[in-house]
Amino acid sequence: MLKRLLNLLTSGAKDSSKASAIRTSDGAILIPRDQHNISRKNISPAAIKIIKQLEDAGYAAYLVGGGVRDLLLGNHPKDFDVATNAKPEEVKRLFRSARIVGRRFQIVHVRMGREIIEVTTFRGHHEESSSHARSEDGMLLRDNVYGTLETDAMRRDFTVNALYYTLKDFSVIDYCNGMEDLKNRTLRIIGDPATRYKEDPVRILRALRFAAKLGFSLEPKTSKPIRELSGLLLNVSDARLFEEVLKLFLGGSATATFNLMREYDLLTHLFPGTDKALKAGDELGANLIEQCMINTDKRIRAEKTVTPAFIYAALLWPGLQQQFKQLSGQMTPTQAWAQASQNVINQQLTRTAVPKRFLIPMREIWDLQQRLPSRLGMRALRTLDHPRFRAAYDFLLMREAAGEALDGLGVWWTNYQSANDEEREQMVKDVGRQPGGKSASKPRRRRGPRKPKTDAAPGGNE
Ligand code: ATP
Ligand code: MG
Repeated sequence: MLKRLLNLLTSGAKDSSKASAIRTSDGAILIPRDQHNISRKNISPAAIKIIKQLEDAGYAAYLVGGGVRDLLLGNHPKDFDVATNAKPEEVKRLFRSARIVGRRFQIVHVRMGREIIEVTTFRGHHEESSSHARSEDGMLLRDNVYGTLETDAMRRDFTVNALYYTLKDFSVIDYCNGMEDLKNRTLRIIGDPATRYKEDPVRILRALRFAAKLGFSLEPKTSKPIRELSGLLLNVSDARLFEEVLKLFLGGSATATFNLMREYDLLTHLFPGTDKALKAGDELGANLIEQCMINTDKRIRAEKTVTPAFIYAALLWPGLQQQFKQLSGQMTPTQAWAQASQNVINQQLTRTAVPKRFLIPMREIWDLQQRLPSRLGMRALRTLDHPRFRAAYDFLLMREAAGEALDGLGVWWTNYQSANDEEREQMVKDVGRQPGGKSASKPRRRRGPRKPKTDAAPGGNE
């Protein structure tokens, strides 16, 4: 190992802050094995196998990105990424299970057992080639020009994401002072912040996501252009935005991320309906979303499943309430609810995609909020049988936890679920006998046309 390090030590200039970190001829800092805490046993065997196989075939290959960053922080990496000088086609030739994905950035997915390792080819500087098409806003439309380890580091997003780990001598290679930022818990974008956000506005979301997830502070130059440039997110495809939004909320730090999104005024672009309602002072709505984020983080920590339908149901709820109130004077509550739901969905789809497999259950969760107060006759039993009952019940509890006064509806449904047939019958009778039976059965008369024959109480912040 020492021999290799000495070979790399061409200028002889050692980094003054670390006695044993070495500066290489191309300006990188090399942190030898005994100066960092990455241990091979914490690296996925699949990633190690892929790196070794690439090296055996004569290519250079490194572990990079979140895997290296998280290991250095003593965290458990979510996945492992590999960077190599092998071209996508060459990687594909080496691994039977490899699949080239992506257009803008070609990435190779190599499957090993149940794991998928992302293998990327070293990126080059865009100035050096015309194959980096840019839009008028400075967005990179293609970025498939290849380069060296150094240029690859410069093309990555944040300094702490640009650390490479080599299996050759187990050192960490740092071109961007990422180690220093890691120590200071600072998230710093590489290069000129505005240019980098313009190239790919998703980096704005990534900045907030990593700051929240790692508990890092955003370095001032990194955070400064965010408010001004966040409108560029509208240029990103709705499908990619949906994927990125999910990452914002499914990474275990949804609460902190959502707070940062509000702080940097990102809801206005990503969730315009929510933004409008919250800015109009809908505190219950803000509480509901916060409750949802807290629950989501808890469930992820407990390794329970989380459905995007539920998160979107909460995120879009304040806009739904606002629309519903506006439309209620003009039509029956049932019609107003349906129309409001549709309007909110249509507006949202102009920002992020929401695949049907999430839209349908989201609407069911909403619609069940209207059905939950109606319990007379066979209604409670029918609602209980609905495939989305459990999610809707959780949503109801969340509304109450957020401060909405619902006449003890949550407790009623909690008891109903554990009651036997006889008790259930009695519970329904008791609801019928409630003074006015209002929340239980008959909806309050509203202005406007006669209601259809239904005992549904209008859902929402009544
Ligand atoms: P995690 O996987 O924990 O969410 P990560 O840092 O590994 O975090 P990935 O999305 O897996 O994030 O990307 C892997 C690496 O690729 C990043 O660490 C970064 O170096 C680089 N990268 C990803 N997206 C971008 C981007 N939009 N611009 C520049 N570099 C990027
Ligand atoms: Mg990763």
